[in-house]
Amino acid sequence: MEEQLRTLVQMQKLDDRIGALRVLQKELPQQLNEIIGHVDQATANLLACETERAELAKKQRSLESDIKQHQEQIKKYSNQLSEIKTNKEYKALNSEIAFLKEKISEQESHQLELMDAENQAAARVNEAKQELDKAEKAKSEQEGELRRQIDSLEGQIEDLRAQRNTMARTLPLQIVKLYGNMIKNKGNLAVVFCRKGACGGCGFVIRPQVRIELQLRKKINYCESCGRILVEPFEDSSSPNAAD
Ligand SMILES: [Zn+2]
Repeated sequence: MEEQLRTLVQMQKLDDRIGALRVLQKELPQQLNEIIGHVDQATANLLACETERAELAKKQRSLESDIKQHQEQIKKYSNQLSEIKTNKEYKALNSEIAFLKEKISEQESHQLELMDAENQAAARVNEAKQELDKAEKAKSEQEGELRRQIDSLEGQIEDLRAQRNTMARTLPLQIVKLYGNMIKNKGNLAVVFCRKGACGGCGFVIRPQVRIELQLRKKINYCESCGRILVEPFEDSSSPNAAD
């Protein structure tokens, strides 16, 4: 009987490892998605920053051409001044020139603002490039390894299950069925140690009579609360449960 109890503890250890691999099966693809998501995000951000910068540059070019046009207009008016006959016309043309000069001055200060904004946008483009580089570096460093790990998990689980099933063949079928049901329905935990007089699975306090039976190892005992197989820890064996 002690041999059967030891086998059950070993089977639980294998199922603990299977459980840990199943957790990785959920977590690793999430990690992979995050890494790929960062690259996508950084790419979109860089595009947005570059678009903003390009728009500012376009505005600057259009403003420059407006200023140039106004300057040419002023030149044209100034040449006309010498040919003007009446004082009234002279005045009108002069005020037109003054108006254009005022306009140019406004446009030039707007131009400075745009330059400043474009410099800031250029800095943001640089930052976004660095972010993208970082994200791409992380991807190239980790993606392959993560994919390799993800691909290998199912095989590792299959190996452990095969080992566990080989062990199970040495046990009575009824116990194996019970074990399997508890692994499935009781949080991957079928075999637990008695801890400080309580069930290691649910904490239920074990009756003194049952404790004695556990120490004798002459039969299989079940927790009277959660139904899990209770085992008194072996001196030479570590815990069967992942939580420890
Ligand atoms: Zn219990």
